[in-house]
Amino acid sequence: MTDYLVKAMAYDANVRAFAVTAKDTVYEALNRHGLNPVAAIALGRGLMAAAILNGMGKGDDIVTTLQINGDGPMEGMVCVADRKGTLKGYIKNNDYESYGENGIFGVGACIGRGYLNIIKDLGMKEPYAGTIPLQSGEIGDDLAYYFTYSEQIPSMVALGVKLNSDATVRQAAGVIIQMMPGATEEIITEVESRITEMKSATSLIERVKTPEAMLEFILGKENIVFTGTEPVSYQCNCSEEKMFKGVISLGRKELTEIVEEQDTVETVCHFCNNKYIFTAEQLKKFIKDI
Ligand SMILES: [Zn+2]
Repeated sequence: MTDYLVKAMAYDANVRAFAVTAKDTVYEALNRHGLNPVAAIALGRGLMAAAILNGMGKGDDIVTTLQINGDGPMEGMVCVADRKGTLKGYIKNNDYESYGENGIFGVGACIGRGYLNIIKDLGMKEPYAGTIPLQSGEIGDDLAYYFTYSEQIPSMVALGVKLNSDATVRQAAGVIIQMMPGATEEIITEVESRITEMKSATSLIERVKTPEAMLEFILGKENIVFTGTEPVSYQCNCSEEKMFKGVISLGRKELTEIVEEQDTVETVCHFCNNKYIFTAEQLKKFIKDI
């Protein structure tokens, strides 16, 4: 597995930075869900955003969920990251014909207008949740807006997925640079000009190869201190037990109707597309117990 996230501080801890490479992870997501090209790019951006957001948190049990709800044909997505570096996610609707106006691959056009929700579950009583209206639906812009207005941390976000013509993933990379309160105008201007120079996250990683080198390009080798590395991979933690709980949550009345009509009940995990089949016998036994 070649995917990972790096964390760094720069300019005497006045700038916080994160970069991720996630080519294999995005390819796994694309394959598992049979995504169309725009949906693959969109979900790839969402997964990298979730990985970085979770990497920002403290504690071993933190789980970060990024949800997008939009009125476009893709309808949005759900992406989840945990501390073990596992990522999972799904596009709400992958079954649509149009890729946006004039067939142009536009993530924003396919997501439409709506909201971005970030939920950080620290394993305590109440998870932290923040919501902002989508700015462009391109995810990077929306996340930058989220940091600036919801967390009051001015941030620059670049998330990119580039596909090959055979629908494999050529590059998937993301960068988030955050200005801490001590960051001077001079630092901000310098970093902004390097960001403009990098063009896009995918073109930068294509040139410099690693997430570390991406951050060195943006922040300057002499200014940066790397503070950690975390692996990233696409994995689902669904199980027969969890999926059975999902089925029985339908309630006694509905379950009784189902077992009268069907011999088996099939349920599919949204995140990995694995199928779980339960027999009417298994369900009947359970209904008797409630
Ligand atoms: Zn699953």
